[in-house]
Amino acid sequence: MASGAGRRRGHELVPLAALISREMKNEKMEKPSVRCGHAAQSRKGEDYFLVKTDCQRVPGNPSSTFSVFAIFDGHNGNAAAIFTREHLLSHILSAVPRGLGREEWFQALPRALVAGFVKTDKEFQSRGETSGTTATFVIVDAWTVTVASVGDSRCILDTQGGGISTLTVDHRLEENVEERERVTASGGEVGRLSIAGGAEIGPLRCWPGGLCLSRSIGDMDVGEFIVPIPYVKQVKLSNAGGRLIIASDGIWDALSSEMAAKSCRGLPAELAARQVVKEALRTRGLKDDTTCIVVDIIPPESSPPPSPLPKKPNKLRSFLFRKSSRDSANKLSKKLSAVGIVEELFEEGSAMLAERLGIDEGAGQTTSGLFTCGVCQVDLAPSEGISVHAGSIFSTSSKPWQGPFLCAACRNKKDAMEGKRPSGVKVA
Ligand SMILES: [Zn+2]
Repeated sequence: MASGAGRRRGHELVPLAALISREMKNEKMEKPSVRCGHAAQSRKGEDYFLVKTDCQRVPGNPSSTFSVFAIFDGHNGNAAAIFTREHLLSHILSAVPRGLGREEWFQALPRALVAGFVKTDKEFQSRGETSGTTATFVIVDAWTVTVASVGDSRCILDTQGGGISTLTVDHRLEENVEERERVTASGGEVGRLSIAGGAEIGPLRCWPGGLCLSRSIGDMDVGEFIVPIPYVKQVKLSNAGGRLIIASDGIWDALSSEMAAKSCRGLPAELAARQVVKEALRTRGLKDDTTCIVVDIIPPESSPPPSPLPKKPNKLRSFLFRKSSRDSANKLSKKLSAVGIVEELFEEGSAMLAERLGIDEGAGQTTSGLFTCGVCQVDLAPSEGISVHAGSIFSTSSKPWQGPFLCAACRNKKDAMEGKRPSGVKVA
């Protein structure tokens, strides 16, 4: 069932020559330059990071270059952090359909990020190791910044003129009520550690396992309602550019976003990263692995100087996010960039795979007419695919024919994440 027989994919396939000529046009619009630096102080040796500034959307075309920055803060060992550092990027990129133009590529990213995170988690869990990791993964392509994260390694944005904003959500049971409710509804128990005499100490944790996070990659012994589905946010900076600070909780337990941003203003990226780590250690001492990446997105020399934003006393939201529909994005961004406003292109944090993969009638269909799994990209025979929108395996669904489709293993994972089967029960 559910192969959506004969349906063609909705996307047009763009010939390579047309793609390259499009890229050349884009190149004429000046790109910002990207400078980055990182610094770390290790205590447990479980923080890992990734800096890759030579990725290409169109292989072989330097004008399609983009950068990736990521932090992985491991727990219960470093295996999950190392595995995720090695595999997450390629899993994300292999989930982006081929032959997309620049704008379509941006639009495909949020779904590819979800698929890449889930695939990495599934692969790591199949190795039978018990560790887990946060993952905060940042893609910088010209003025567009896309962030996907699970756990509590935060990414903040400091724009010219003084606006500081958080591009991630902390998946911590202590602070995140919504996540607490989701975990409980999926069969987990949330409570504090009890010590002799019945007193409860420390932050809220999820049981079994005792993890303080509600989302992570790995953690096969904790219960599959601790999901790897990332919060994703995509923004477009104004022509004033901005600075990203990506760091593990060793920084954020010591410094507020505001303190971190202000402590390093005016310093070049490499020194700035060192300064943020130094500031965190000065405040709190070395209690945890502490890692920081600073990324500066710098307007080209020739562009007119940015008009500064008026300073606002509101610390929570000291600059404006401007929501806009994709259709009007280009027109709007021109107008908005003139006044230094960051444009919000996409934001979604749901833990439900069906919501995150959306509806795509031709999803995963290859040119040969075969389908691929919407998560792990394996080929599916027409009889194999199960719609991500189909209800439980044991009930009938209203939309079992709508893509994307999942292979049996990914379908089992989806059910486990939603608490529809006991976690840890392997279905062959
Ligand atoms: Zn699959």
